[in-house]
Amino acid sequence: MAKVKVATAWLDSCSGCHMSFLDLDEALIGLADKLEFGESPITDFKKFTPCDVGILEGSISNKHDEEVARDLRANCKILMVLGDCACFGGINNMRNLFNTDDVIARYYSTESTAQNSAAPHSKELPALVKVRPVNQVVKVDCYVPGCAPKPSAILYALSELLDGRIPVLPGEIMRFD
Ligand code: SF4
Repeated sequence: MAKVKVATAWLDSCSGCHMSFLDLDEALIGLADKLEFGESPITDFKKFTPCDVGILEGSISNKHDEEVARDLRANCKILMVLGDCACFGGINNMRNLFNTDDVIARYYSTESTAQNSAAPHSKELPALVKVRPVNQVVKVDCYVPGCAPKPSAILYALSELLDGRIPVLPGEIMRFD
């Protein structure tokens, strides 16, 4: 049987959701028989190609995040969002309480730098946008909340997808033990 091709990406995030994925430990060996990883921070292949399942971690916080989300959505059949940042905006939502210029100025002028250090200006730097969950930019098919989601929740979701079902996580899986 052909393996299910999976691609993942992280947007505005701490990478903790991908770390939780790696915390599947020995279950990853069982999944390796059924899943094939394409583009992902884990494989470091960067250009999306058509895949069965796309997985996004992190909120949409800048123009580049929007592009990555749209690119993966266009290349995958099912899009799963992983973690509270991707599902709801998460802790990154706190930035929406402040003016973007003030946030940038505060970032580059801290107690350990010269006051009023100039923020770098480069067209390579993506413009910040209002922080949003992924489903405010592209259609999302399934959600695995948590900060970070428990490995058992990720395994449940992937197992459901491999069995041909869109996962709906039961409450007990989302609670921390
Ligand atoms: S949901 Fe939590 S663990 Fe995942 S990227 Fe956001 S802050 Fe990190």
